Amino acid sequence: MAVEDSMLRVVVRLRPQTPKELESQRRPVIQVVDERVLVFDPEEPDGGFLGLKWGSAQDGPKKKGKDLTFVFDRVFGETATQQDVFQHTTHSILDSFLQGYNCSVFAYGATGAGKTHTMLGREGDPGIMYLTTMELYRRLEACREEKRFEVLISYLEVYNEQIHDLLEPKGPLAIREDPDKGVVVQGLSFHQPTSAEQLLGMLTRGNRNRTQHPTDANATSSRSHAIFQIFVKQQDRIPGLTQALRVAKMSLIDLAGSERASSTHAKGERLREGANINRSLLALINVLNALADAKGRKSHVPYRDSKLTRLLKDSIGGNCRTVMIAAVSPSSLTYEDTYNTLKYADRAKEI
Ligand code: ADP
Ligand code: MG
Repeated sequence: MAVEDSMLRVVVRLRPQTPKELESQRRPVIQVVDERVLVFDPEEPDGGFLGLKWGSAQDGPKKKGKDLTFVFDRVFGETATQQDVFQHTTHSILDSFLQGYNCSVFAYGATGAGKTHTMLGREGDPGIMYLTTMELYRRLEACREEKRFEVLISYLEVYNEQIHDLLEPKGPLAIREDPDKGVVVQGLSFHQPTSAEQLLGMLTRGNRNRTQHPTDANATSSRSHAIFQIFVKQQDRIPGLTQALRVAKMSLIDLAGSERASSTHAKGERLREGANINRSLLALINVLNALADAKGRKSHVPYRDSKLTRLLKDSIGGNCRTVMIAAVSPSSLTYEDTYNTLKYADRAKEI
């Protein structure tokens, strides 16, 4: 199978150090080797890493690192742009999407690792949610002679096992499974932005409506999952023929922080819910683990265990295309989180 056709593509994005991290002069814990390879906790060569001395390593003995090499479908270093990340993630599954396959792209990682930056982006530097929608419009526009199409978007949040509409806030919404339409969120609003500005406005507004604003330093802000969905209906314009209607859904997901789920990533082990662990995130991890175990075999995939996995039931596994973007920080301050994220991303490659 070609890389573009594989069911799950796993990439890693390393964010730049923040000014505070730069100040602390700690040793970076990730070394990007090339487009597909990185080393976690690299062995410090004589004379220091890259010829530099870092923090406490200055006088002490040579630091012995884990020195673990990981290979992914793609590794984005700290200078990678939003466009680079888009080109090698969602862009590669847009063809499948337009052929009618449901797709999902999710940003996984600890709080502060760069998930929201990657998916939503910031003013003047929009992320994958925006870039994907714009590219989709371009592609559909290019074939409007042959096809009739309709694009609808929605934006919702799963917080505390409740679903909230981020574009038209109201009470919590229920999920229903429709034999024809697949998974349906009852009462969710759908929108048709008619310009790039309008789309950006919706993303910004939706983000502001999240239970905890994701850019707040507030620790609980890391517990909400934001899901931006694009629905495309298309029909060939062939006179005299019964035209097949094709409907597909793309889900772009800014997941809750993975830090609380981290230490239990053991292979094959079914994760259990603890008092502070995000149920939807654990359920998603379990679903992906079950898919990895089930590869080529039939086995139970526990989609029903949370709101998030029920929502994504028709968008992960089966014929769907999925991209996992594991976001990591270069700082040794988040050593364990980074290690756990890489281990989990590595495990996901088995799907
Ligand atoms: P998360 O959503 O995973 O908690 P954020 O996306 O909010 O993390 O990122 C944490 C901080 O790092 C933010 O200030 C964000 O702007 C910054 N940041 C993250 N990724 C990048 C990047 N690739 N380039 C520049 N700044 C980034
Ligand atoms: Mg965030």
